[in-house]
Amino acid sequence: MSQPQIFPKLIIPETIAAGPGPGNTDQRVLAAFAQAGLADHMHADVLRGMIESKLMLRTLWGTDNLYTFGVAGTGWSGLDAMFSAVMPGDKVVVFANGTFSGIDGLTVRMKAATSDELAVDSLNPMPASVVTIDVPHGSSVSAEVVEAALADHKPKWAVMAHWETGSGRINDIAGFSAACEKHDVMGLVDAVSSLGVADFRIDDFPGVHGWASCPQKGICCLPLTYAPVSLSDRYIESLKATGTRTFVHHPILEARHWGIVNGEDVEQGSYHRTHSPYAIAAFHEALRITLQQGLSARSKAYEFHEKALSNALWEMGCTVTSNMTSLVVLDLPGELRGREIELVQNCRSRNFGIWPTLSEPVQVRIGILNLLDRSAVTDIVTKFAEAIRELGGEVDEAKVSAALDTAYASVPTN
Ligand SMILES: *Cc1c(COP(=O)(O)O)cnc(C)c1O
Repeated sequence: MSQPQIFPKLIIPETIAAGPGPGNTDQRVLAAFAQAGLADHMHADVLRGMIESKLMLRTLWGTDNLYTFGVAGTGWSGLDAMFSAVMPGDKVVVFANGTFSGIDGLTVRMKAATSDELAVDSLNPMPASVVTIDVPHGSSVSAEVVEAALADHKPKWAVMAHWETGSGRINDIAGFSAACEKHDVMGLVDAVSSLGVADFRIDDFPGVHGWASCPQKGICCLPLTYAPVSLSDRYIESLKATGTRTFVHHPILEARHWGIVNGEDVEQGSYHRTHSPYAIAAFHEALRITLQQGLSARSKAYEFHEKALSNALWEMGCTVTSNMTSLVVLDLPGELRGREIELVQNCRSRNFGIWPTLSEPVQVRIGILNLLDRSAVTDIVTKFAEAIRELGGEVDEAKVSAALDTAYASVPTN
């Protein structure tokens, strides 16, 4: 038998999180997490913190949806709770244009599969009731594609990512919502990458009945906290009618701890599971930060700094194929094509945390979550230029700095 082992204390270094996520957690959020006293999950201030977070979330997301709250865990936890209303045999159309909407599609296929369909290939079921519309990597899902598919298939549910982080593409949420309304379909949206970055209001998109996001991207609250979800009354009615086979991710049951009981806000939540006061304090502070800055100002800052970064990358000979404002997805200059993974690994080994794409084709992804100032963007540009030179590529430093100067001359930095 081997000896029991005790390892040295785990030290995780400071990195520049310049990828698609997780974003750089604000110091105020970390302080709130560390400074929460030990209080149990039914302590009055913890319950109040949950109610206040719920109300701030409704403001941030621009919605009167009563069922707006946080699901403990990561983005997939919120998505799993939202997709729990999809039952075996339900007709669903899924629009997939990258890694994440692809996984959303898999989740939906697992939930919509009948027992027999699941048993055929349990890790990748192909239920007859789910239609997947594949939109090529690097393209957005358009209103026309959604309209045609919903007119054709008339499903109960339609599923799309708002911002597809795999390829860095913004999909047409207005077109999606309109087509859902027209064909009386309930839209379910993966808003993991857009919440806290894009300036949008849920209630402007009445065709969408379920939204799910994450703690670690636009909300900048990684220290494992809450995946926000927002569900319409119609969604809740449908869920109540069909039921679903989960306790912990049952949206109606989970909402009780946030003070949403029997279709009403109540003054105090009731037990669903043991929530962490540390997590509640951190989540509450993260929402305060975003609301204090204002979503519109925050969204404009992303647009501004993404443009500066993109322009500098074009000057290095890269081809940018994304249109998200928190993330740039690019092809390397011609002579370096095929060496994306090597370049990304070099950067990551120096704690400059950029990413490749996680599904084909291989591209490089550089993000600016909570890195909204000139010095942070300049640092990213400088480190990326070094990485290109290291592989033997050429960078015209003067041109790159001129691109940054131009970008930062036009509008005052925040
Ligand atoms: C990051 C991401 C996810 C997964 O979120 P986790 O926090 O890793 O669970 C899902 N969908 C999209 C669009 C994402 O960007």
